Amino acid sequence: MSTLIDFKSLHLSLHQAISGYEAGSIPHALLIHGPAGVGKKTLAKILCMRLMCCAQDALKPCGRCDQCRRVEMGAHSNVLSPSRTAGSRSIKIEDLRKIIEMLGRHGLESGARAVVIADADEMTPQAQNALLKSLEEPLESTYFLLTASGDRGILPTIRSRCSVLYIPPWDSDSILQVLNDNGISGRRAQKLLDACDGSPGRALQMEKDSHFWDTAALVEETFLYISKPVQLPSFSGKLRNVKEDADLIFSILENRVSRAMQADEGGQSSRKFSRLAQDIMIARKYRASNVAWQSIADRLLFQFMEEQPCQWS
Ligand SMILES: [Zn+2]
Repeated sequence: MSTLIDFKSLHLSLHQAISGYEAGSIPHALLIHGPAGVGKKTLAKILCMRLMCCAQDALKPCGRCDQCRRVEMGAHSNVLSPSRTAGSRSIKIEDLRKIIEMLGRHGLESGARAVVIADADEMTPQAQNALLKSLEEPLESTYFLLTASGDRGILPTIRSRCSVLYIPPWDSDSILQVLNDNGISGRRAQKLLDACDGSPGRALQMEKDSHFWDTAALVEETFLYISKPVQLPSFSGKLRNVKEDADLIFSILENRVSRAMQADEGGQSSRKFSRLAQDIMIARKYRASNVAWQSIADRLLFQFMEEQPCQWS
């Protein structure tokens, strides 16, 4: 389990806010946002532990007391989260109302109470409006911790009543450290780092995902390997049925190009790599405009072939 200190050391921009949380100054309404997998839900859980922890002499949260352990196991009755209507992709007004009703009851334990709304951007506007009153007139010792990967779905009225904390993508060393702590090192760790867009959660998820490794291998043996026109038809064929993986393929390619650019001693190939980076960006745009995948893949294959030989580190 991470700690507040781990988050504080992630980025300078987090230092001040997290120091405040360490000291016990946690806002009554906090919106934690940032890319998927950077630790937003983990931080929300640590803040709940900070609110509930009953350690006397230790730094809070201690992670060991009964309160901390119950929060960590998701078994603390003062930590509430909306349970979604079965089969629904959004958090609906009735899901929110149940929580608000529970807050009004006396059945909860004494001490701080926390409402954690993960993926708060998936609340319907009606659910957000139902939440608004609770944010405007917070009950004593009641905290609302919202997390969201994108904040577009959050109504301005909700956002303006929350303190907002952005968790940026992690730097490479911190991600490699997490991977190392999970027993992943060497080339495997480097490949995950390349494709995870600064998100350790995503890297760990990919590690378990054989599909990721298959896609990484496919990129190696097509885009990064092609050097002659005669290879084009068969490589094009290999890419025919991977339309759904286009974004992952682009991410892997972008990372390989950017790494090669950094390793390019003397900058002798810098124009070549800049052109490839540009080509991938254009391919992404075509994909977003629903251009047929096969023609995007073929064009990109041709461009990678044209720029060979490249030193792929
Ligand atoms: Zn504790």
